[in-house]
Amino acid sequence: MAVKPAEGIIYLVGAGPGDPGLISVKGARLLEQAQVVVYDYLSNPKLLEHAPPDAEKIYVGKKAQAHTLTQEQINALLVEKGKAGLRVVRLKGGDPYVFGRGGEEAEALVKAGVRFEEVPGITAAIGGTAYAGIPVTHRDFNSSFTFITGHEKEERSEVGGQSSETDIDWGAVARMPCVAFYMGVKSLPRICQKLIENGMDPSMPAACIRWATTPRQRTVVATVATLAQEIEKAKLLPPALTIIGKVVTLRETMNWFERRPLFRQTIVVTRTRHQASDLSDKLAELGANVLEAPTIELHPSSNPAEVDAALSQAGVYDWIVFTSANGVEQTKRRLLATGKDARAIGKAKIAAVGQATADAIERELCLNVDLLPKTFVAEALAEELLARGEVKAKKFLLLRADIARPMLREKLQQEGAADVRDVAIYETIPAKTLPDDVIEAIAAREVNWVTFTSSSTARNFAALLGSDYKQKLIGVKIASIGPITTGTLKELGLEPTIQAEASNIQRLVEVIRVRSAGVSSAA
Ligand code: SAH
Repeated sequence: MAVKPAEGIIYLVGAGPGDPGLISVKGARLLEQAQVVVYDYLSNPKLLEHAPPDAEKIYVGKKAQAHTLTQEQINALLVEKGKAGLRVVRLKGGDPYVFGRGGEEAEALVKAGVRFEEVPGITAAIGGTAYAGIPVTHRDFNSSFTFITGHEKEERSEVGGQSSETDIDWGAVARMPCVAFYMGVKSLPRICQKLIENGMDPSMPAACIRWATTPRQRTVVATVATLAQEIEKAKLLPPALTIIGKVVTLRETMNWFERRPLFRQTIVVTRTRHQASDLSDKLAELGANVLEAPTIELHPSSNPAEVDAALSQAGVYDWIVFTSANGVEQTKRRLLATGKDARAIGKAKIAAVGQATADAIERELCLNVDLLPKTFVAEALAEELLARGEVKAKKFLLLRADIARPMLREKLQQEGAADVRDVAIYETIPAKTLPDDVIEAIAAREVNWVTFTSSSTARNFAALLGSDYKQKLIGVKIASIGPITTGTLKELGLEPTIQAEASNIQRLVEVIRVRSAGVSSAA
């Protein structure tokens, strides 16, 4: 007997205006369960990370000349996927029903007998204005707020917006206290002229916001008489939203987003592919445009038997030394894989290089760290062990990366340790290329900073940039996590602009912030 296919369903989900945090909880959950995601130009591609890796992701957006699907073809695609019994998220920028043709897609689905649901999103006129420091209503200024589409043809094809043949009643709009225009950047001269002709005060405040709620946000503030000219001067292109009304003056007080300390700073964060990037998150929170550049991939040791043998005797050592959070994770994995757990460590004391390593030991292994040197380098660890009289005749197990410096082992041996077992618990493999956005930003000289948190990322990043890496980095500020990384950067001929004093991520962020003060502008 033929199995009846599952009933398909299409969720029309609002992606919000750009900031990936502005999707709804419901929208994010539906993405997690999607088998197909159909998305367009204005929905942030970062949101696709919510979807399962094996979900089919179909881009139907309309960017510049790129040829994509017509609205009829999109409707047909959704119907086809629904009839095939699939769970589909149709992800649309802002809110699906606000100038986004979501209504037409819903009609097509109903007509074809395919189930659908709609999940509203934060529309550009609400989210974009808020991030530009403009509340759309305020008791002192307005008791209504109007959404209008500028419906310019060229832009419509660029952003997939809704076409509207309805003529605007300019007399009525000119009397409205607060109006937002979607699309229509190119027709702004005509829009503003119509408003003034129909009686709007030429000195009425107006603002145009491009790529609102993203690190690329740019805002031009003027009056309805001067806006078109100012936009031309600033070369502000679509996608942008225009808001006209007295509420625009509140931006002077409320411009929180563009005033964050690292706004307008583009920062490349070099890192390993697997690391959860605490550094990226902290920089982004301060407003930076963070571009991640994974330069090395971490893999479990190709000789797990060696690792397992060492861990099976872990309890006989006086000290176990971890030099990275990844080493801690690999230890946990191998312990569990061989039917053991943290008890295998017995009475051995634990030393960590770096706060992140210490945190991982507590979190992953549920063990307290007995020694965390003040400066996060292996030399300091050896010094502190010596100062405590904990080297002579003691037994050490070092769980480290395959490329770690031999310094710690050598020092401990020289100072009379009874046994130093040195195990490469994971391996590092250089990445093959840099991500496109990093390559493009470097070529366009848009990068303000590159951060380095280890010697190996520094070497690999230079190699990935190519032999002319020094020229490519002229004018780019370099931030180093600590003295060892700085040494490697200098060997490469790259002079760090700053170095965090204590090899600590929070300190690195602080020094970047201090050195960027006054550079980022809040226009
Ligand atoms: N459904 C969308 C609107 C689609 S029409 C929504 O609810 O927001 C496309 C227009 O929306 C663009 O031309 C622009 O005017 C506006 N827009 C959408 N996202 C924007 C953003 N991040 N910044 C500025 N304008 C945006």
